[in-house]
Amino acid sequence: MSFNLNQHGIQVTDVLRNAAPAVLYEESISREKHSAIASSGALIARSGAKTGRSPKDKRVVQNANINDDVWWGSVNVGLESASFDALRKQAVDYLNTLDRLYVVDGFAGWDPRYRIRIRVICERPYHALFMHNMLIRPTAEELSEFGEPDYVIFNAGCTPADTSILGVSNTTSVSLCFTRGEFVILGTEYAGEMKKGVFTIMNYLMPKQNVLSMHCSANEGQKGDVSVFFGLSGTGKTTLSADPHRLLIGDDEHCWTDQGVFNIEGGCYAKAINLDAEAEPEIYNAIRFGSVLENVGFDAKTREVDYTDGDLTENTRCSYPVEFIPNSKLPCMGGHPKNIIFLTCDAFSVLPPVSRLGPAQAMYHFISGYTAKVAGTEMGVTEPEATFSACFGAPFLVWHPTVYAELLAKRIREHNVDVWLVNTGWTGGAYGEGERMSIAHTRAILDAIHDGSLKRSAMQADPIFGFDVPLTCPNVPDEVLIPSNTWKDKAAYDAMAQRLAGLFHDNFAAYAGQASEELLSAAPRANGN
Ligand code: ATP
Ligand code: MN
Repeated sequence: MSFNLNQHGIQVTDVLRNAAPAVLYEESISREKHSAIASSGALIARSGAKTGRSPKDKRVVQNANINDDVWWGSVNVGLESASFDALRKQAVDYLNTLDRLYVVDGFAGWDPRYRIRIRVICERPYHALFMHNMLIRPTAEELSEFGEPDYVIFNAGCTPADTSILGVSNTTSVSLCFTRGEFVILGTEYAGEMKKGVFTIMNYLMPKQNVLSMHCSANEGQKGDVSVFFGLSGTGKTTLSADPHRLLIGDDEHCWTDQGVFNIEGGCYAKAINLDAEAEPEIYNAIRFGSVLENVGFDAKTREVDYTDGDLTENTRCSYPVEFIPNSKLPCMGGHPKNIIFLTCDAFSVLPPVSRLGPAQAMYHFISGYTAKVAGTEMGVTEPEATFSACFGAPFLVWHPTVYAELLAKRIREHNVDVWLVNTGWTGGAYGEGERMSIAHTRAILDAIHDGSLKRSAMQADPIFGFDVPLTCPNVPDEVLIPSNTWKDKAAYDAMAQRLAGLFHDNFAAYAGQASEELLSAAPRANGN
C-alpha cells in the first residue's frame, strides 16, 4: 500500500515521504521561486516575507488537562480549542488544494528513552530538506517501523491565517495543541519556526519526566568532559560549540537526564551573516551539498554566496546535518556536564569577558537570562537595548521558569558543576567607542575553562555584580579581563554598570516574590540597594 495522509484529513495522493536530499534539490529548483544551487553545493532558498520567528503569533490550546502546567501569559497565549480546530481545518483545506506534498518523519531526542516521533507535512521542498537536516534521520528500518507520529506539524505557511478566527490577531499564526499532538503553521515560511516548535514540545514533555530541557549547545572534551553553553540568539551557542579541540554534541537544544545530556536535533542552524572561513572554519565547510542556505545573497554568475549580504535580512541562516561538522559526536549524547557556560552579548560593555558564578548567582543569572543588542537609530547613533529572557529561552518555555531553574539547581548540586558567565559582547567602552570581543579571545577563555587553568587563576570579586572575575587567562591580555580598565572614562563605566544593575533589578521584580533570601542576595548591588 502506498503512503497516504488520510488519517490527517489530507487526500493529496502525490506525497513524497522522506525524499533524498538530491530529490528535494530537484523539487526545489523546479518548483520554488528564487531557489538556486550555491557554488559550494548548498541549496539556496528564500523564506519570503518572514525572515525570523514570530513569537507574538504563537498560541497554545487551553484545556483542562494542561491548564495547570502551562506558564500562561505573553509567552504562552491561550487559544480556545474551537479556534485551533478552525486553524487546523484552514491548514488542511489549503494543503488539500496542492498537487504534491512532502512528508518528513523523524525523531526528536537522541536518547531512545525519551525520543519522540515527529511528522512534518509541508508544501515547500526546502522546508522538507530543512527538517530532514534538523530532525534525527531514521534508518530505513526505523522508517518502515515508524508507526503513528507523536506530533504532527501541519506547515501551511504559504497561506495567511484567517484573522476572523477568535484569538487569531494576525495573518501569521503558529499554534500548538499538546493534547492532540498537533502544531499548525499559517502565514510564515521561516523554516526555524518548525524546529523551535519541536523544542517547545520537548520543553513541555521533558520536565514531566524529570528531565531538564535546555536552550543550549553542548560539546565534549578528549577526557569526556561535557560543556553546555546557554544563551539567547546571537550570543555564540553555535559558533563556540564548533571547537576543533572538542566533539560537537549539538548547537541549540539539549536535555539533561539522570545519565547525562542528549541533543534533541539531528542538525545545526547557524547564522550565516558575515560568516568567515578563518574564524569559523567548521561551520563554513559544513555548507555543502545537502545544506540549506536561507535568505543569503549570491553572485548571479558564479553562484558564490556573499555572506556579507544582509539585503533580505541580517538573520541569514544555514542548516546542515550535525555530521557535517567533522568532529561531531554520534550518537549526539554525552555524560553530565562539568562546566556550564552562560553566554551573554553585553552591548553595554559592562560585564567581564568571563566570571565565575556561585550557586545562587548561577540561579539568578539563569532566571534573568540577560543579553543585549545594539539597536540602530535613524541618526546612525547606536544605543544598547537589554533583553531578559528567563532560562535563556523564554519564548520556548511551557512551564513556569522556576520549574526549569529548580531542575537545573538540583543537577548542578548533584554533579558539582562549575558555572561561568561569558560575555561575547562589547569591550572597551560605551557604544560608539567599544568593539565586539574577538572570537579568538572568547575561544582562549573557553580553552582555559576546559583545561582547568582558569579555575586556578587569582580572582577578584566584581564590586557591583558580586561574582568572581579571573585576573589572568592564557592568550588574553590582563586588561581585557576587567572591563573598567578598558574604558577611558572610569566614571562613565561606573554609571553604565549601575544602569545595567538597575535593569537586572527591574526585570527580577517579577520573580522576587518566589525567590529565597539566598537567591536575592545574588542580585547586583545597584545604587540604593
Ligand atoms: P541562535 O539561538 O539564534 O542560533 P546562537 O547563540 O547560536 O544564536 P551564533 O549563531 O553562534 O548564536 O551567533 C554568534 C554570532 O556572533 C556569529 O555571527 C559570530 O560570528 C559572532 N561573534 C562575534 N564575536 C563573537 C564572539 N566573541 N563569540 C561568539 N560569537 C561572536
Ligand atoms: Mn545557534
